Amino acid sequence: MDCELTLPRRLPWHDGTWAALQTLKQRNVHAVLLHGARGIGKKSLGFDLAQAALCEQPQADGRACRQCTGCVLMEAGSHPDFRFVLPAALAALRPGHAVEGEDDEEAPAEAEEPDKHKRASREIRVEQVRALADFATVATHRGGGRVILLAPAEALNAVAANALLKLLEEPPDRTLFILVTDALDELPPTIRSRCVLVRVEAPQRAVALQWLAGQGIEDPEAALAAAGGAPLAALELAKGAALDPELRALLLDLLERGDDADAAEIARRIPREVPLAASLALLQRWCWDLIGCRASGSVRYHPRQQASLARLTGKSASDGLWRWSDALVQAQASREHPLNARLVLETLLLQYRDCMNSTH
Ligand SMILES: [Zn+2]
Repeated sequence: MDCELTLPRRLPWHDGTWAALQTLKQRNVHAVLLHGARGIGKKSLGFDLAQAALCEQPQADGRACRQCTGCVLMEAGSHPDFRFVLPAALAALRPGHAVEGEDDEEAPAEAEEPDKHKRASREIRVEQVRALADFATVATHRGGGRVILLAPAEALNAVAANALLKLLEEPPDRTLFILVTDALDELPPTIRSRCVLVRVEAPQRAVALQWLAGQGIEDPEAALAAAGGAPLAALELAKGAALDPELRALLLDLLERGDDADAAEIARRIPREVPLAASLALLQRWCWDLIGCRASGSVRYHPRQQASLARLTGKSASDGLWRWSDALVQAQASREHPLNARLVLETLLLQYRDCMNSTH
């Protein structure tokens, strides 16, 4: 199974929030809502918190030991008392992790009705929340509690949010809900009021720069600036720049050809093993260039492909590009979870082709 666990852990600027979370533990809180700016590692903190809650020998500061069986199962993405709930289209891409009640969406057909596709790729649906109710009523496997991490919480559709509300109103025994959002205003007030809200602060610039330097990023200042001050997004950008030249050329060729590359060719040419984070970063920059080219004629990341970008901009619909951008952001947000990287990439390239088709 492809298992890419690239989520940075124990981010230094979360220390203050971590201490606050420990006092919540003493109060036996069953639902925490982590909120704050995008790209500062809220989901990473959510994972740290989930792992600590399931750790069988936690440290004095409440952190996970990262050595016990519970911790190892968490790192491997296979702890039986942990659930990570994410939007349906990405959940369906997880190998061997069929989501109860989900349609088979592993390879969205080109002719698929657009509204259906849009719903599937963006939302956390009620079937996923109902599956949680089942999960939360059986005895835990390892004798401890159970943890449910749900991100991004604003992706819950109205029906799913209602079902979750019922769970939060009558919380199952020994169950910790961790919700993560960077759009607090988009969550129903009823959900917010059932959770303890914990604001996750963005790091000071100097802390972010030091952390990026510690990740081996050559030019932390440039990376942080390009990512609008969000260090995790900056790390992705910098990693993407280091994509293997052969794979980079292959992806750029597929992107430049737009809808000239057919589905069979895309499936054939993507290698079995692909570094997902770096590949997604390339697609994201391509998408930004297309959107920039459409808006102002400017190309920031791929000046050598300016002519192709201009041609593709003329063929693509703006709303299609924005939907693709959303899908890329979601894929990046979920990349720490075991995903079939090749299938994720193929699906996103097919969706990109559809942007081109949309004006035909
Ligand atoms: Zn442990």
